[in-house]
Formats: sequence, C-alpha cells, structure tokens
Amino acid sequence: MIGKHYIAGQWTGSDKTFLSAPAQGPAQEFCVGTPDLVEAACSAAEAAFDAYARTSAETRAGFLNAIADEIEARAEEITETGSRETGLPEARLQGERGRTTGQLRLFADHILKGDYLDRRHDPALPDRQPLPRPDLRMIQRPIGPVAVFGASNFPLAFSVAGGDTASALAAGCPVVVKGHSAHPGTSEIVARAIEAATLACGMPSGVFSLIQGGRRDVGTALVTHPLIRAVGFTGSLAGGRALFDLCAARPDPIPFFGELGSVNPMFILPGALSAKSAALAEGWAASLTMGAGQFCTNPGVAVLPAGPDATGFADAATKALSATMAQVMLTDGIAQAYHDGCDRMGQGDHVQGLLVSSRQSREAAPSLFRTTGAAFLDNPNLQHEVFGPLGLIVEVDGAGQMKQIAAGLEGQLTCTLHMDDADTETARALLPILERKAGRILFNGFPTGVEVCDSMVHGGPYPASTNFGHTSVGTLSIRRWLRPVCYQDLPATLSPHLMG
Ligand code: NAP
Repeated sequence: MIGKHYIAGQWTGSDKTFLSAPAQGPAQEFCVGTPDLVEAACSAAEAAFDAYARTSAETRAGFLNAIADEIEARAEEITETGSRETGLPEARLQGERGRTTGQLRLFADHILKGDYLDRRHDPALPDRQPLPRPDLRMIQRPIGPVAVFGASNFPLAFSVAGGDTASALAAGCPVVVKGHSAHPGTSEIVARAIEAATLACGMPSGVFSLIQGGRRDVGTALVTHPLIRAVGFTGSLAGGRALFDLCAARPDPIPFFGELGSVNPMFILPGALSAKSAALAEGWAASLTMGAGQFCTNPGVAVLPAGPDATGFADAATKALSATMAQVMLTDGIAQAYHDGCDRMGQGDHVQGLLVSSRQSREAAPSLFRTTGAAFLDNPNLQHEVFGPLGLIVEVDGAGQMKQIAAGLEGQLTCTLHMDDADTETARALLPILERKAGRILFNGFPTGVEVCDSMVHGGPYPASTNFGHTSVGTLSIRRWLRPVCYQDLPATLSPHLMG
C-alpha cells in the first residue's frame, strides 16, 4: 500500500497517519485527510471541469470502460484486501466487483444512447400572433465538481468507483471522493485503477481525486467547499443529516443526495401467511442475515395479523435465525451500534425478545423481537433502523391497524407485500399508502439485492433519502449530476457545444 491520497494525478502524503482496523490481519498506516487536501482536490476538479464536461459521450464511455477493465485487472488484490478489511466473505467481494464494473459499463452504454440528455426542441414560430416564438432548445448539462462519500457497507459498489462516481463521471462531472476509513486499502487499489484509466484515456488529472478518511473536518470541508456543486452520500442518518444541513446552510446551498436509514417493512397479508408462514419466515431470516444484515434494504420489520399463523411464523423465524452463525461486522463502531440497538429494542415497552444475541466484540448474531401493532404505533423509536441482523415482528389486530402502520411509516427505500389471490383487496387498499412511503414496492419477494438497471429506484422519502425525487442506483441516478439549460435562438455555429 502507498498509504497516501490521490490528488489530481499525484499520490500525496500528509503529516499525520491513522491505522486501519481490518477484520483480519495486520493494521496498516494511511495518511489522514486534511482540509488543505480538500482545497487542492476541489480546485483541480474545477480546473478539469470545462474540458471534461465537453468531452464526447464516446470519450467518457471509453473512460468508464477503461476503469472497469483496470478494476478487473486488480481483481485478486481487491478481493483479498477488501475481505481482510471489511470481514465480508471473498465471494461477496467478487460479486460486488462484478456489480461495480457492470455499473461502470452500464453507464458507458447509457450515455452513448444519448436520451439521458432529454433533449427538447420547440422550433421558432416567427409568424405566431400576437407574438412570435423564439427557437428554444433544452438539454441537460453537467453541474460541476461532485463530492462522493464512500459507504462502509459496500466497499466497491458504493465507494471509490461505485455508483455515485460512475454516474457523475458519465454525466461529465469531475469527482472528489472521501474514502471510508473502514476500507482505506481497498479504496487505494481502486484509485490506482482509476489513475491507470485516466492516463490511458488522456483525461485531465483533476477529473478524480481520493482523500482518505480519518478526520471529520475532511467531510465538512468537502461539502462546504465553494467549488463543489453536489454531494452523493450513503451512510448513517446522523452523519448524513449533519452533512445535509451543512449543504443547506451554505451561502449557495447545493443538493445533497444522501441515502440514509430504512427498515424496509414487509406486510404479510392473511392469505399468504396462512398458506406459507414457515417458508416466508425462512426467506425473511435469510434476507435479514445476508451480509450480517448490513444492507440498506435489510427488511427489519415484518407486519402480520396476530393469531396461530403469526405464532407459526415467529417460531419458524426463531428457528431459522438461531441456526445462523454470528458474522463479523464492518467496523467495531458498527458492531457496537448494533449491540446498543438490540439492547434498546429489548427495553421497549411491550417488546418481547424471541432471540437475544449476546455481545461478541465485532461479531453480530441475529436478534428477533415481537411486539403488537398498538405498541408499534405508540412508540416511533421501534421503526428506527438498527443496522445489522435484527428483526421485529409486529402483530396487528386486523387490516385497519395494518393500514394505520403503513400510514405512519417514515420514508423507506422499499416496502414489501406478501400476498396471494385472497389478499387482493387488502393489497389494493395498502398500495396507494405504500406508494407515498417507498421508492420500490416488492410483491412476494425480499428486498436485499438491488438490480442495477434502467427502472431501479433506490431512494425514497426522507429519511430513506434526502432527495425523494432521485435514485442512487440505476441509470436514472445520472440525473442527480445534470441540470437542464434552455438555449434561446442558439446560433448553429455554437450548437456542437451541445453534442455531449
Ligand atoms: P457514517 O457514520 O454516516 O459515515 C459515513 C461517512 O460520512 C464517513 O466518511 C464519515 O466520516 C462521514 N461523516 C459522518 N458524520 C459526519 C459528520 N458529522 N461530519 C463530517 N463527516 C461525517 O456511516 P458509517 O461509518 O458507514 O456507519 C455508521 C452507521 O451508519 C451504521 O451503524 C449504520 O447505522 C449506518 N449505515 C447505514 C447505511 C445505509 O445504507 N442506510 C449504510 C452504512 C451505514 P468518518 O470516516 O470521518 O467517520
């Protein structure tokens, strides 16, 4: 490892260092980020902007494909370091690498099609009465340098060359990444891949910088830097909200595209529960414990009608979760937050612990709790995310209470309906409520596993995201880094400027 920051084409050191805290193997030293480095990276990004924003879609597509190739060329190194740093199994890292290179290539194809520019044209009507109409053309233009915060739970797909970076580079925006201190080595290897692609494709050096983590003032300096035009973030509600507030309080407020917390409730309707309570419970347990529950789409809450089928569901879920081994979490802090969350849940009024895991340093074993619909409605804290493999069963006294719970939900990334034919009317009544709550509504499935494609929406009303009209996964995510500009009576000699 070089252990340095990558600022505008140079590997740059800083006075202080921090030690990584890998799940396995020896810790390594990395330079601590500073506000001075933020200044250097943002200035270089602004200097690169004009040239980069005017590159053709073919040029940027070539750049994105080259980054994907360079990441593949470092596949083994990435898997080994990523797994060691995060504790995630090698197979997961390999899968995530495929998703990361896949989304880089998807954005390359997407910009080549050109429709992301949403070109519109209202030709001039010189003879229109009472007033002539000018010629009007609208096109999306890149907004400027973008700041990206790498997420702890996706060291590749939501990190240095993850979806935020890929979509911003595709749009024509230079990127300054604040690496997550949970995986600085993985970040460095991916930055080396981007460095190689930048050189091979002749891109301006300021098009990409990585500032390693380790200090809070790097994040604050980045989102308040006058040259940064928008921010992409995945992480905690508290951190995201603090950074969002800083963006809003700037003299020139900028958009903060934060993907924060979500409990991704599942509504299990009576027909489906009666037909397959055990199978649903086993499917839920598998989804809940995947990756130690460290997915933003983890389905933490199951709402279902009280009765013998609910008891069967709880018994089957307890059995399936009991058989799941404890798993290493991403960081000591995340493990601590999980154990604290389990303790808080267990102390809630009318909350019964069905499976209570003991504190095991950085490991998390599944936990399962049960409560009533009335208690859930009374205690808003029960719908706050506990990041990790924690499930809460909410037993309701009928369809009316299920609707009340749906109506009282905070914004969610996903909501799920488990239903069969007999449940159609109840589902029909719930659907308009859920549409106002979530970015993605699933039927008879589990929300972990987010397809990267044209129709995906990974966002939702606050606090699922800070910007409900957008998604951070899928091709639509490019719109976060574009701004519509209307050109009135644009001379033909200047129109090539709009080819992008
Ligand atoms: P985090 O604490 O929100 O940190 C994410 C990034 O934001 C880090 O780079 C962090 O910098 C920075 N940051 C956070 N608060 C800041 C502040 N007040 N000022 C400036 N920068 C700030 O998230 P995390 O470290 O990944 O995990 C902590 C918790 O986040 C978890 O326990 C979990 O609850 C939640 N989480 C949720 C999701 C999700 O998808 N919803 C994903 C991951 C984590 P530093 O490196 O300096 O801390």
